[in-house]
Formats: sequence, structure tokens, C-alpha cells
Amino acid sequence: MAYLREIITEGHPTLRKVAKRVSLGEIADPIFQQLLDDMFETMYHAPGIGLAAPQVNISKRIFTVDLQDEDEAHGPLVVINPKFTVTEGEIEATEGCLSVPGMVGEMTRFEHVVCTGLDRHGKKIELDGVGLFGRCLQHEMDHLDGILYIDKAQNIRPAATDEEIAEAEAALTR
Ligand code: ZN
Repeated sequence: MAYLREIITEGHPTLRKVAKRVSLGEIADPIFQQLLDDMFETMYHAPGIGLAAPQVNISKRIFTVDLQDEDEAHGPLVVINPKFTVTEGEIEATEGCLSVPGMVGEMTRFEHVVCTGLDRHGKKIELDGVGLFGRCLQHEMDHLDGILYIDKAQNIRPAATDEEIAEAEAALTR
């Protein structure tokens, strides 16, 4: 069984902490595996395409991603102790966050990243991220370092147009 966890919002101190690395021993713990299941449940329910553990008040270096598109390389994925080994190019797009409900902003990100880390069984993984997937990896990584997109974004505003509301509340929120 997976359970919904509360998504904490801007102002909560956990969102501003640098999250702790996860040990291999911890990954084998059923309580840890339960957290991962709960994170997926919470992410899908929101709905969102990515969720970092600090957003459910767990200050550990873990995030889940599922773009919910046709490409199985885009999830469902768990990334533990992620690290970028490649960051290149620059691209701006509208971004929102489940922890900053109803708002959007223009955010410049790397155009391409390669992210390494561990999967839910502690096996090494490497993810190649461009487009929305690359953006999502960077957004979630920021959460692990206590950073919110509103710290760096331009023109932060309440989602107003249908497109922006969709960005803030549905498929493109993280
Ligand atoms: Zn977020």
C-alpha cells in the first residue's frame, strides 16, 4: 500500500535545508521503500511530474520523476543521491512548483544534463536529460539543495492564462 503524504509549501524550513545523502543500508529498509511508494502516490495525486523528498518533509537526497509520456526513459524513476556529470547549453521556459502553488515564472536552465545516481534498489543509473525531462531533473535537484525556482526565476506571477494554469497545476508542475 502507498499513502498520500502532505506536500509542504514555501515557508516551511525543510524546503530550505540541504538534504542528507542516503546510505546503501538505508535503501534496503522497508520503511525507506515505503517512502518511495508514498512519494509516487503523492506525485501522481498532486498531479505532478516530479517530487523531491524534502517536499514531503523528508530531508534526504531522493526524487521521483514520471513525465507520464510514451517514453519509458522518462519514468517512473527514483533517483537517489543524484549528481550532474554533464551540464551544457541554456534554455528558458515557464516553470511551476507543487510547493509554490498557483504561481509560475520564467526560469533559465541547462539545455542538457546527464544525471547519475542510484535507483530504488541501489543500482547505479545514468539519465540523459533534454527538454522537459532535463528541466525536471534540475528542478528536483535544486529541492535537494534547499533551492526553490522562485529564488532564480524572472517574472514570477500568479498563473493567469489557461496555459499558465495548466503549467502551475497540472502536467508541468513539479
Ligand atoms: Zn518543485
